[in-house]
Amino acid sequence: MKYLSEYRDPKHAHGLVDRIREISTQRWTIMEVCGGQTHALLRSGIDEALSECVELIHGPGCPVCVTPASAIHNAIHLSMRPQTLVATFGDMLRVPGNHGSLLDAQAGKGNIKAVYSPMDAVQLARKNPEQEVVFLAVGFETTAPATAIAILQAAQLKVKNFSVLCSHVCVLPAMKLLAASKQNRVQGFLAAGHVCTLTGFEEYAGFVEQFQMPVAVTGFEPTDLLVGILEVVTQLEQQQANLINCYPRAVKRNGNHSARQICEQIFDVTNRRWRGMQVIPNGGLCLKSQWAAYDAELKFSLSDVDQQEIQTECRSGEVLTGTIKPSECSAFGNQCTPQTPLGAPMVSTEGACAAYYRYRNNNSD
Ligand code: SF4
Repeated sequence: MKYLSEYRDPKHAHGLVDRIREISTQRWTIMEVCGGQTHALLRSGIDEALSECVELIHGPGCPVCVTPASAIHNAIHLSMRPQTLVATFGDMLRVPGNHGSLLDAQAGKGNIKAVYSPMDAVQLARKNPEQEVVFLAVGFETTAPATAIAILQAAQLKVKNFSVLCSHVCVLPAMKLLAASKQNRVQGFLAAGHVCTLTGFEEYAGFVEQFQMPVAVTGFEPTDLLVGILEVVTQLEQQQANLINCYPRAVKRNGNHSARQICEQIFDVTNRRWRGMQVIPNGGLCLKSQWAAYDAELKFSLSDVDQQEIQTECRSGEVLTGTIKPSECSAFGNQCTPQTPLGAPMVSTEGACAAYYRYRNNNSD
C-alpha cells in the first residue's frame, strides 16, 4: 500500500477528489461512523466537493450524542443523593436528559463536577472520604481503558467511596444494526480510525463478510478521509466488498494489546440503549461481576429508577442513524443552536448538528 503514504501529503487532496470523480459511474452512499470525521469532512468541504458522486451519511459516531437520556437521569438522581458527588466530562453537562441537563441539576440541588479524566474522580473520592463519588463514564472503546484504569487504581488504593455509572458504547454492533435495517441506504463504511487504534480491525472482517459492504478504516485528516472514500468507491465500482486499513500509521490488525487486556479485565459486553436508537445487542460495556463494588448501578440500586426515554421534538435519532441531515430538522439553526441546544448532537463538539451549524449554517458566527 505504498500509495497510501504518498496520499498523506495534502497536495494530493485535489488529485484524490479528481480520481474519485473520474471513477464514479453513479452516486454512491457512504457512512462515516465517527463524529471527528464528520467535522473534518464538513470543515474541509469534502462532502461538497464530492457531492455529485458520493453522498456522505453521518453515522452515530459521537459518544456524547448516543448516551441515552436515562443515563443522564440516573446521574442527576445520584447527584441529589445526600453526600454524593457525580463527576463527568464537561461535554456531558449540557446534554438534555428526560428532566433537564446535568447543568440544570447543578444549578439546583445537584452535586456535580466536571473532570478531565476518570482518575480525577478517583482523586476526588480520596480527598472527600465522607462523600460517595460517582463517575459517569461515557465514550466508545477509546475512552474505556481510562475508566478501567481508574477502577483498578481505586481497588489498589482501597478507595471504597468511588464507583462508575458505566455508559460506554461499542461501535461495531451499531454498524451491524444500521446495515441490517430495512431502511438502510449505506453501501460502504468508513470505520472510525481512533476506535480501531484500540480494537484493531480484525473484527470488521466478519461484518464485511456478513453484509457484503466495503469497509475502509480511516483517519481524520482530509487526505485520510479521501483515501478511505477512494478505496470504498473503487470497490463499489468493481462490485467488491473488502476490508482495508487506510490508517496503518495508527491502526494495527489487533489494536492495542495492553489497553484491550485492561478492558477485558474490567468490562463485559452488554446490550445497551443508544439515544434515538433501540437497545443495541452487545452495544455497550458493563462492569464484570467481580467489580460490583465499583458499579454505581448496583451500589445504588438504579434499576428501580425510571429508565424511560422521553420523546421530544429533537430528531437526533434520525440524525444519528443518517436518516436525515441536521439541516432537515425544522429546529436547526432557529430554536436549536449551540447556545440553545434541544438535543445532544447540537451540544457535543463531535455532534453532527453542531458540525452543520458551524460549517454549513450561513447565520452562524
Ligand atoms: S438540530 Fe437540534 S433539535 Fe434538530 S436534531 Fe439536531 S439537536 Fe435535535
